[in-house]
Amino acid sequence: MLFVDEFRNPELIQRAVDEIHALADPKREYRVMEVCGGHTHAIFRFGLKGLLPPNVELIHGPGCPVCVLPMGRIDDGLELAGDPNVIFTAFGDMMRVPGSKGSPLESKARGADVRIVYSPLDALKIAQQNPDRQVVFFAIGFETTAPSTALTLLRARGLSVKNFAVFSNHVTIIPAIRAILESPDMRLDAFIGPGHVSTVIGCRPYEFIVRNYRCPIAVSGFEPLDILQSLVMVLRQLRDGVAKVENQYNRVVPWEGNLAALRAMAEVFEVRPYFEWRGLGFITQSALRIREAFAPWDAEQTMSVPGICVTDPKAAQCGEVLKGVLKPHECKLFGKECTPEHPIGALMVSSEGACAAHFKYAVT
Ligand code: SF4
Repeated sequence: MLFVDEFRNPELIQRAVDEIHALADPKREYRVMEVCGGHTHAIFRFGLKGLLPPNVELIHGPGCPVCVLPMGRIDDGLELAGDPNVIFTAFGDMMRVPGSKGSPLESKARGADVRIVYSPLDALKIAQQNPDRQVVFFAIGFETTAPSTALTLLRARGLSVKNFAVFSNHVTIIPAIRAILESPDMRLDAFIGPGHVSTVIGCRPYEFIVRNYRCPIAVSGFEPLDILQSLVMVLRQLRDGVAKVENQYNRVVPWEGNLAALRAMAEVFEVRPYFEWRGLGFITQSALRIREAFAPWDAEQTMSVPGICVTDPKAAQCGEVLKGVLKPHECKLFGKECTPEHPIGALMVSSEGACAAHFKYAVT
């Protein structure tokens, strides 16, 4: 299959592994963060960790939007879902994510009208089919999914659909990376940059990482060879004592990003002054809210969103895992109280969650 087979070619993979071993200086340690949860899953799925020298450590980053959402925002969404006139819609990977009083799926079991959608346009269609009900779309994701929410809001306005609203939980990746770089308990040598987000934002926004922190970064695809080539790129930079942004995923990621998507986002969203991230706390200018011009379709401006604040269960160490300070299996609850069947944190549920990856592929 084009763009799959060649990126899983055993000979090319062996060549990249050999180069990584040749580049890694045995006298030093390398800590490389893969920002994106999709990379975390690919690393475990393809057993890449076992191919690396022991002194090249991969650290899981905060690039799983479901995982970084604080419980209070899920509770807020479920308060909206509790209104009998509301049809609450969300992506499938939100359904089992626990808030403090249960997940959307459990709300559905208690009688709320909760429906899985594959795109925000599906939610808009449900609104058109149910003019007597209020349809809420629980919008989540980085810049990867924000454009589709923006385009749906533009369409809702264009069609004058009155019974549709978005509860925006979109976040942006750059402030999270900056927060990690500023974190005193974190030492990183390089980044494997997120592939999906970069299809929208491009590579330029990462330039501050090399300029201000002298930290190499390679934006990467998701096949095994992509990730290994990205490691080769950052290890070469470290060997040569340089720091630059490289685009390994240039078959998909344009350097300048997707200008049409960025325009749609800019028309519909503005940056919130601050937003709470699970594990990272409040980060300034790190999330998107809906502009005043789209207020009739903004659940936060037209519906009663309580603004619930909830602290994580005491023993849960989701925050440390999200910051890369702990490995998932080092959390006290991993595989005991917290499993995919009975998740305590979103990291154990989401298809991009580090704990789910560790559990599924039995890596300890
Ligand atoms: S094992 Fe569960 S509680 Fe611990 S960090 Fe992972 S998701 Fe959070």
